[in-house]
Amino acid sequence: MTNNVEPAAAGLNRVFCNYCPAFCCYRLPGSTLFVTATDINRLARHFQQSDGEVRKQYIEHRNTFKVKEDGSCIFLSDGRLSKRCSVHEARPRQCRDFPYDAPCPYLQREDLLAEIYPRVEKSLG
Ligand code: SF4
Ligand code: SF4
Repeated sequence: MTNNVEPAAAGLNRVFCNYCPAFCCYRLPGSTLFVTATDINRLARHFQQSDGEVRKQYIEHRNTFKVKEDGSCIFLSDGRLSKRCSVHEARPRQCRDFPYDAPCPYLQREDLLAEIYPRVEKSLG
């Protein structure tokens, strides 16, 4: 049963992601985007910088990305009409795997949307 459900959920998520203003790229209380040394090295190669430079510019609390004033990831583009990851090819493993072949919780949980949607709306002006 699980094997039948997972590919369908993954496929649906890909469709939703194309039209979603990246709810999952906003920091919420109690949630952490966990960035590993491997993720930092991938970004360093992407930017042709050292791992140390990437840590200094983009990392806080040792293992997560800095966020902008509205809580969005430092790598989320500021485009008013589209919110996209500006380092998509070099994004961390957790970003690649989310929502882990399950239906996306941001499209199902009203409490999450209530937290994030005002910020998204504000940025869309
Ligand atoms: S919140 Fe869900 S649907 Fe939107 S981009 Fe993230 S994973 Fe995709
Ligand atoms: S690295 Fe990209 S996909 Fe991951 S949280 Fe930041 S903007 Fe979103």
